[in-house]
Amino acid sequence: MAKLRPPKKRKFGKGSMRCVRCGTHEAIIRKYGLYLCRRCFREVAPELGFKKYS
Ligand SMILES: [Zn+2]
Repeated sequence: MAKLRPPKKRKFGKGSMRCVRCGTHEAIIRKYGLYLCRRCFREVAPELGFKKYS
């Protein structure tokens, strides 16, 4: 049997990332380990304790 490979970091090219919330590929924010699009980030940010960006 083939052993399960440990999850390694793959090369993330542009477009390979997607928002974990809505699935879009546009404007993904990877800051803070989040994979959210700009839109979802704005909605989730307050819940995470982020203040509005000016
Ligand atoms: Zn989104």
